[in-house]
Amino acid sequence: MTTDIEIYGRGALPPRLDSRLAAQFTLRCDPGQIPPEAWLAQHGDRVRGLANASFTPLTAELMDRLPKLEIISGLGVGYDMIDVAAAKARGILVTHTPDVLNADVANYALLLLLAASRDLLRQDAYVRSGRWATEGRAPLTTTVEGRTIGIVGLGRIGRTLARKLEIFGGPILYHGRRAQPDMAYEFCPDLTEMAHRSSALILCLPGGSDTDKLISAKVLDALGPDGILVNVARGSVVDQPALIAALAEGRLGRAALDVFEDEPEVPQALRDSDRVILSPHSASATLETRQAMFDLTADNLIAYFRDGAALTPVPECREMR
Ligand code: NDP
Repeated sequence: MTTDIEIYGRGALPPRLDSRLAAQFTLRCDPGQIPPEAWLAQHGDRVRGLANASFTPLTAELMDRLPKLEIISGLGVGYDMIDVAAAKARGILVTHTPDVLNADVANYALLLLLAASRDLLRQDAYVRSGRWATEGRAPLTTTVEGRTIGIVGLGRIGRTLARKLEIFGGPILYHGRRAQPDMAYEFCPDLTEMAHRSSALILCLPGGSDTDKLISAKVLDALGPDGILVNVARGSVVDQPALIAALAEGRLGRAALDVFEDEPEVPQALRDSDRVILSPHSASATLETRQAMFDLTADNLIAYFRDGAALTPVPECREMR
């Protein structure tokens, strides 16, 4: 591979991704989310590829400052922070890292579901505080065995999760924009009705304008005072103020959240609630899965510049590769 191809590493590139790219290309990193003028003046018109490890918006304005940019290789499967329409309009291919993270994200959703229903954090606190010794057994919790679970977004992660949920023996429902005839699970075109029928809703759909605040006050009320909301998707898909109000007023049972509206900011009301489990966007964060994600991010750039075809373009760019 020729090293005279210049790649812009946006955000803090993990060492493995940094070293793989540096071995193949001339890597120009800038740890800031928006490069300063001096950086753009020096490198902007030579950069041909971009490795994106940032969760901040990747805008048309930035693309305009990189006139030779051909490909944006995104780290992660979600690409709601990349203006794909602007990239396509400029002939820039966008790629992401699907599939390699399905199992770990699905496992994390299961972990959150079980931790919420069995009140794991309070069990832990009960022992640490000494209350077990002074007060006896901890309060009883609820089972997931045989319970109806609703999955919002039966895609790669949602399907992987559904298979794992089968071991609990309860009905599995799903909501999306269309039924998937190859799936044996019941399709629910009405999200509120699915929430009403479910003991837990697990969110596995993309962020972005199409799904913004899909989980509304109405959906949360339908899930109800014994219901559990698990979000491993994006914070934007939930009306976060409505979630806080529903929890505070006892209209929703529990929530287990890996993602938030304005990460890494998490409202104090959520941090103070003992009916919420909080996680810092960690669903894919195992050594093994992250390594596979770093490698696919690098491999997309390598394949594009070596063969003229990236490995995993986002659906909107498939015809461009
Ligand atoms: P897929 O594209 O395979 O699946 C997404 C599913 O969402 C599809 O089944 C789709 O079904 C459904 N969907 C899309 N738009 C809508 C809509 N407007 N209303 C209802 N359903 C919709 O994606 P993945 O399973 O690979 O990933 C899902 C998301 O998970 C990612 O986009 C990302 O945001 C998030 N994620 C979070 C991680 C974390 O660390 N917490 C890690 C990895 C992913 P249909 O087309 O039928 O509507």
